[in-house]
Amino acid sequence: MHLAPYIVLLYLLAAVLFIVGLHQLSSPKHARSGNLVAALGALIAVGTTIDLLHHSTLDLVLLVVAIVIGAPVGAVAARAVKMTAMPQMVASFNGVGGGAAALVAIVEFLRVPAHSSPSLVLSISVVFAVVIGAISFAGSAIAYTKLQELMRGTPITYPGQQPVNGAVAAAIVVLGVLVVVGTLSSLGLWLLLLLALVLGVAFVLPIGGADMPVVISLLNAFTGLAVAGDGFVVGNPVLIVGGTLVGASGTFLTKMMSDAMGRSLGNLLFGAFGKIQVSEAAGPGGAKSVRSGSAEDIGTLLAYSQRVIIVPGYGLAVAQAQHVARELADVLEKRGVTVDYAIHPVAGRMPGHMNVLLAEANVPYEQLKDMDEINDAFKTADVALVVGANDVVNPAARNSPGSPIYGMPILNADEAHNIVFMKRSMRPGFAGIDNELLYDPKTIMLFGDAKDSLTKLVAAVKAA
Ligand code: NDP
Repeated sequence: MHLAPYIVLLYLLAAVLFIVGLHQLSSPKHARSGNLVAALGALIAVGTTIDLLHHSTLDLVLLVVAIVIGAPVGAVAARAVKMTAMPQMVASFNGVGGGAAALVAIVEFLRVPAHSSPSLVLSISVVFAVVIGAISFAGSAIAYTKLQELMRGTPITYPGQQPVNGAVAAAIVVLGVLVVVGTLSSLGLWLLLLLALVLGVAFVLPIGGADMPVVISLLNAFTGLAVAGDGFVVGNPVLIVGGTLVGASGTFLTKMMSDAMGRSLGNLLFGAFGKIQVSEAAGPGGAKSVRSGSAEDIGTLLAYSQRVIIVPGYGLAVAQAQHVARELADVLEKRGVTVDYAIHPVAGRMPGHMNVLLAEANVPYEQLKDMDEINDAFKTADVALVVGANDVVNPAARNSPGSPIYGMPILNADEAHNIVFMKRSMRPGFAGIDNELLYDPKTIMLFGDAKDSLTKLVAAVKAA
């Protein structure tokens, strides 16, 4: 399609805003404005497309109807979603994006007049967008269903699963080639869509529910690539740039998450990961003994410390204790105690979970320390205050080959002079494995909901 120069310029502006927004998202300080900048880019892209279609009343009406339905749904869902349900939300948005990309490609292919054959670029782009978009749609739907606990969250495996998936993938390749060379037309494309949907389901079924955020990130990259494919199909530069950005950033995020969890990408895709072997967690009645303390005793320990490192985890998010955590840090700092937060890349249940939570409580960014930055400091810390975290400080990741988290880099909380664990019970974290550190002689347990316990600690420090 030939585009007027002002349309091209507006699309270029939208693309630049996407890039600037994405860049700002890489730091917690600028993430909020990055989101707004990228949203402005999307608004300009949509507005330009409306202008592009103004000569066709039907297209325009359809577009306005889609916006009137879609925008309020998106806005309400984004405001209502709980932080812990964010992965499902991303999965659902991502899935519909992939599905839409596949449908746009099919519609464009069907519009090619019967007597003329589509160009090679068009055929390849259509096949690519249909396959990748449909895999993303079906895979995201299964991810959503698992995370929302509408189906069993654990890996669903059956004999011959990998060969069957391999056969479906091979059939997709053969069919795709036949469509591209023109042997099969619309029927082939519908068949391709069906097989890609089957592969999307089959690909996500063997993955464990709580591991899903990594897969969602991968599917997100798929949707981006499918959208970029659509950009070639309809000749729209902003779709190509936007889709490629999503594809590239999603791929990087997937790699970073799998590295932080100590898994290779290959194991992630084909290893039926998330197959958790629950080890025997010694509960309060188990053989090993644990030392628990009162809020008063622990408050005194904190008040007379020089350096405290707070290790936040999933339980902080569940308890919504971020504001009280900050209050505790403030009262400690007033007494001259140095307080930092040690942020593990996969603490919580989504990338950046702890950063988002603590930013919400206006914790100064300088106090948020990445794992590599803080790990050496644990040796000199009087207290590692572990608030609702478990796996990210579990030494099994270093010492127990065969453990599901073996190889995952962890925070060196065990090197602090004292370790205080704030959790409700002896139950394991996400990986379902016991944590030796809970039984360490240097460890004191403060049982209870993190918000209640932190509130008691604030009072105890003030009284010390
Ligand atoms: P964990 O899941 O290991 O542990 C969380 C702990 O919080 C539990 O042991 C639980 O113990 C405690 N807890 C729960 N609710 C409360 C509450 N209200 N008050 C106090 N404590 C509470 O969390 P981590 O953050 O340490 O580790 C994250 C795990 O999630 C890693 O294994 C990571 O691989 C995985 N993961 C992370 C993703 C990410 O992107 N961040 C994505 C997918 C998986 P109790 O029940 O006794 O209170």
